[in-house]
Order: sequence, then structure tokens, then C-alpha cells
Amino acid sequence: MKHKLFVLSGPSGVGKGTLAKMIKERNADIALSVSCTTRKPRAGETDGVDYFFLTKEEFLRRANGNLFYEYSEHFDNFYGTPKDYVESMLETKNVLLEIDVNGGELVKKQCPEAVLIFLKAPSVEALRDRLIHRNTESFEKIEKRLARLDYEYSLEKDYDYVVINDKLEKTYNELMEIIRKESE
Ligand code: 5GP
Repeated sequence: MKHKLFVLSGPSGVGKGTLAKMIKERNADIALSVSCTTRKPRAGETDGVDYFFLTKEEFLRRANGNLFYEYSEHFDNFYGTPKDYVESMLETKNVLLEIDVNGGELVKKQCPEAVLIFLKAPSVEALRDRLIHRNTESFEKIEKRLARLDYEYSLEKDYDYVVINDKLEKTYNELMEIIRKESE
């Protein structure tokens, strides 16, 4: 493996998707991996860009064939990191994975040199506000996501860095500092 693998994890709504996209758009030497999922595309999402959208049968076929670096089930849908895709990108660039908090430890098991970054919200209220403003989920689903928070935060001990996403640009700079330092 020629380049470095970075994992950005954190609870839903913490801003990891936004930050991962900023990192990709501003840094030609960093690629953002595209995960596979069985969830249905949301408005504006494109197959092969936001996710590879798969049927459950196809996802499980790939999982059984050991074609994922890691995968997990999240609110009745499967999400997985395609191994071949990541490994071929690592030939030319550093690669960033934006995955849920369970994925980090699994990636580290397969790839001990991966750098794991855990993103936290400044507070539970801030996270609830972000999920409400995102307007992609019902009230029940938001509360269900928030109910998992204690469990999700308990996993930060498996991560190399913990970053609080307070102000977007400040957080971006902190993440880039970590990426630059670890790439030296
Ligand atoms: P969403 O449905 O909002 O796009 O994503 C739900 C959760 O799945 C997010 O926390 C996201 O980071 C996570 N996720 C996306 N891709 C992967 C993946 O490949 N593996 C794992 N473990 N989680 C993922």
C-alpha cells in the first residue's frame, strides 16, 4: 500500500459528510471512498457518486465473498467499504473513509496503519438541531439516532484522534493538520 488510509467517523448529523466533501474538493491528493449501501437513494443522490446502491441480495453476496473492508447494519440498512475500490485508490492517493463509529475498529484490524479520527458534536442539543435542519428524517428516527449516542461515544477510545466539530472551517483545519502530519 503506497498511501495512507484515513477514517472519519462520528454519530449521524455531526457533520462528517460535509467535512469529508470539503477535504475531497480542496485536496486533489485525497480521494473520498464511495461506500455500498442497501438504503434507497435520497433526493439528489447519484449512484456511484454518493453511494453504490445495491439490493440486499447483492450486498450480502459481496459480504459473503469477503469483498468489503468492513460493513455494518445501521437502522435496517447495510453499509460497507468496498475493498478493491479502496485498495486501487490507495495506489495513487491518500484515501478518506467516512463511515459509522463501528467501522473504525474493523478497518484498523485489517489495516493497522490506518489513522482513525472520531468527530463529536459540541453538545447533544447541537446534534439534534443539525438532524432537524437536515430534514431527511422523521422525529422518531432522529430520537432513535440520538438514543444511540452514549454507545457511539463509548467507541471513541478505539480512535487515534478525537475532534469536536464546533465551527466548520476550524474543524476542517484541524482535520487537515492531522492528515498532513500523519502523511509525512
Ligand atoms: P446515511 O444513511 O445518512 O448516508 O449514513 C448512515 C450512516 O452510515 C452514517 O453514519 C455513515 O457514516 C455510515 N456509513 C456510510 N458508509 C459506510 C460504510 O461503508 N461503512 C460503515 N460502517 N458505515 C458507513
